[in-house]
Amino acid sequence: MKLNLNIQPLSSWIKTSSEPLVIAGPCSAETEDQLVATAHLLANTGKVSALRAGIWKPRTRPGEFEGIGSIGLEWLKRAKAVTGLPTAVEVATAKHVEEALKAGVDILWVGARSTANPFTVQEIADALRGVDVPVMVKNPVNPDLSLWIGALERINNAGITKLAAIHRGFSSHEKSAFRNEPMWDLAISLKTHAPDLPMINDPSHITGNRDLIGYISQKALDLDMQGLMIESHIDPTVAWTDAKQQVTPAALVEIINHLALRKPETRNTEVNDKLTELRNQIDKIDDLVIQKMAERMKIVEQIGNYKKDNNITILQVSRWDEILNKRTNYAKALKLSTEFTEKLLELIHSESIRKQTEIMNKNEAGQAADKLTHA
Ligand code: PEP
Ligand code: MN
Repeated sequence: MKLNLNIQPLSSWIKTSSEPLVIAGPCSAETEDQLVATAHLLANTGKVSALRAGIWKPRTRPGEFEGIGSIGLEWLKRAKAVTGLPTAVEVATAKHVEEALKAGVDILWVGARSTANPFTVQEIADALRGVDVPVMVKNPVNPDLSLWIGALERINNAGITKLAAIHRGFSSHEKSAFRNEPMWDLAISLKTHAPDLPMINDPSHITGNRDLIGYISQKALDLDMQGLMIESHIDPTVAWTDAKQQVTPAALVEIINHLALRKPETRNTEVNDKLTELRNQIDKIDDLVIQKMAERMKIVEQIGNYKKDNNITILQVSRWDEILNKRTNYAKALKLSTEFTEKLLELIHSESIRKQTEIMNKNEAGQAADKLTHA
């Protein structure tokens, strides 16, 4: 299903000074000197297209630094005047929107905690009505694609067409190396729903760790995301927020210089021919996979009917364990990852269970009706 969003291209609202597009700046504006000095170094790299800084910080727990507040808008103005970099801040209320616009902030973004709340998003959207300002919408904290889409729709419905999504990862109960799980499939899914919507990756909030920023940035570019938002601080070790994930402007340059820029398409016909040939092979295999799935489900139906006639439960845990063990071992020998095989088998198995449940619960009346329609 394609989303009905009215969107202008990224190039209509941000001048990319160097590829890839990088928006950088401190997690929080702390002092005028810290902000202006950081902005100065970032502008001098020639790799940064806009300056970000949080001045209203949505903290999960009270009592932490909650942002410097409106005075930070004056500092952003100065940073812009000194460097020429357009500025971006997070807004979470109608008042933030008003103040940021009044102070001439160039780009606004909706934070992950706000996107998770439709009331907040609607309040921001209402404050934006009739204004021509670019807005970036971060994914919600929780892995819920509809909330992300809903927030983009609300902002777009308010007349904002200079719109982008920011992928900053999702909270998860599973322990991992990342602060927020990337869950790339959710970001890819949004891209398929809205192919024209620019997507910017935020490796700082995904990783929570400056050493992993390069790795995630490369992956984002390889998935054809249009830019990166990276937190950069003149002295990350003493940063008031997100100290572990911020990088110095010099380290930022290092990260960017190591990124490989790959194009989604090429004009080289030899490369294209080879790609087409390989894609044809994949298409044939995919058709076979679908055909085999259909055959498998037919047998599942037979088993379902047989179990019903003989009063046997649908699920036999030992049989499922046997399938899982045998197949994952086999798949491993064929160099497929266990995680992938388990996910695939679980998907197939849950569909089989669904089909058998349907058969088991078909009541006598249903069967009689079936007989009539098939007679
Ligand atoms: C931020 O960008 O500093 C921030 C608070 O991010 P998020 O909304 O992604 O947590
Ligand atoms: Mn931050």
